[in-house]
Amino acid sequence: MTVMTFATGGGERRRCDATCHRASEPKCVCICGGRYHGKKTTAELNQAIEQYTREVLGCYAPELAQAMTIAIHGPRQGALL
Ligand SMILES: [Zn+2]
Repeated sequence: MTVMTFATGGGERRRCDATCHRASEPKCVCICGGRYHGKKTTAELNQAIEQYTREVLGCYAPELAQAMTIAIHGPRQGALL
């Protein structure tokens, strides 16, 4: 599952996907900066995504971060975050 993608104006594309999530080495070179590194199970990955979403919402809309239920969808259901 691709969690995030990044594209520069120069055409470079990078993404955080299973290569990062299933990594065994402790050093992360992914665009997620280690946030999703080594999150091998769906439960671990979903928990990390939910935590990050709540952190971001907490900065901009703390009342939403407290009240909302976060639904994480796979690639067939739609885009993440
Ligand atoms: Zn990553």
